[in-house]
Amino acid sequence: MEDCIFCNIINKKINSSIVYEDDYVVAFPDINPQAPVHLLIVPKEHIKSPLDIGEDNKELIGHVYIVAKNLAKKFGIDKKGYRLVTNCGNDGGQTVLHIHFHLLGGRFMTWPPG
Ligand code: AMP
Ligand code: ZN
Repeated sequence: MEDCIFCNIINKKINSSIVYEDDYVVAFPDINPQAPVHLLIVPKEHIKSPLDIGEDNKELIGHVYIVAKNLAKKFGIDKKGYRLVTNCGNDGGQTVLHIHFHLLGGRFMTWPPG
């Protein structure tokens, strides 16, 4: 996916400060942080949105939650809590069409979200 910004970060064609990487996901800081800790956890597979998650991706999505937990510990937001958000489609606020999970913490999160 040559024109996908997240594929280009994954392929290291675009610079970012990757804080975690394994065979399935990368994580890096959001360029426009909405909380003191705001990381994006991005599957390496170019899945466009949550609507495109298939049966084959079950393990991958579970893995994202484990990585999120470990990163929450590493970045010191596990004890107070954090939010893991995936936006889907226009109304959901999705702007990048490569599935990603926002790991947000370090401040109190209001509900409902805006
Ligand atoms: P969403 O609106 O849920 O699709 O989230 C996309 C996120 O990607 C936004 O929070 C952007 O700030 C973030 N973003 C876009 N380009 C970059 C980039 N080059 N590096 C890091 N984060 C980015
Ligand atoms: Zn992509």
